[in-house]
Amino acid sequence: MTWTCPQCGRTSPGYDSRRRQWRHLDTCQYKTVLEAEVPRVQCAEHGVVTVAVPWAEPGSGFTALFEALVIDWLKEASIQAVARQLKLGWGAIDRVMQRAVKRGLKRRTTQSPEYLSVDETAFARRHEYVTVVTDQERGIVLHVADDRKTESLSAYYAELSGEQKANIRAVAMDMWPAYISATEAHIPQAREKIAFDKFHVANERGRSRGARGRRALAGEAAKVCRRRVIVARASRRPEAAGRAAAARSAYLPRVRMSPG
Ligand SMILES: [Zn+2]
Repeated sequence: MTWTCPQCGRTSPGYDSRRRQWRHLDTCQYKTVLEAEVPRVQCAEHGVVTVAVPWAEPGSGFTALFEALVIDWLKEASIQAVARQLKLGWGAIDRVMQRAVKRGLKRRTTQSPEYLSVDETAFARRHEYVTVVTDQERGIVLHVADDRKTESLSAYYAELSGEQKANIRAVAMDMWPAYISATEAHIPQAREKIAFDKFHVANERGRSRGARGRRALAGEAAKVCRRRVIVARASRRPEAAGRAAAARSAYLPRVRMSPG
């Protein structure tokens, strides 16, 4: 039997298999666990590696659908509440969040954004903050970091090349000292580029693009308001779903249900 190396896609001979389990969505009132013998391949380049399964991300003890449920609930309730209701530890929830953020960031392009928007956003209750940097023109999330400190935003700027930094024409943000100092530390002529009013940024764009740009302003303003929704969407869909086509019936999981 041959399988595909998850790292390079090369067809490789089977090596052995490992029994793995993933918590799945509950079935009726029962906690449901998928169990499967997952093959390992011997790749010429990567050695012995476990093949990818279509229903979960590598290294996760949850199915993609269960992780999507966790993310959906995190948008509605505090981490504490989600942990209690789904019977999950904080560490597990944190790892689900990290994977979601990684998926969201993977989708960003390497183009140089000109109009940024920096937002602090909270999961349901106002004490668990994350910093979100958005490309206003394309409405995509560029960076998500814990907290709302100077470092939360500096980490994004630090990834940019000098040219990318110079290309930034405006940064819309709340009047929050940490964001201001991060921007001043990294962006040339930051004082001229920081805008505390998102509609001001939209206006700047209108001017720089001429009449056509100005006509688009109303729509852009609405887009800014919808940004939080976009943020939520960006982190939602587990990639594993896209790999469904690669499902191999040879190791379809068994389902086991247990009370509670
Ligand atoms: Zn390989």
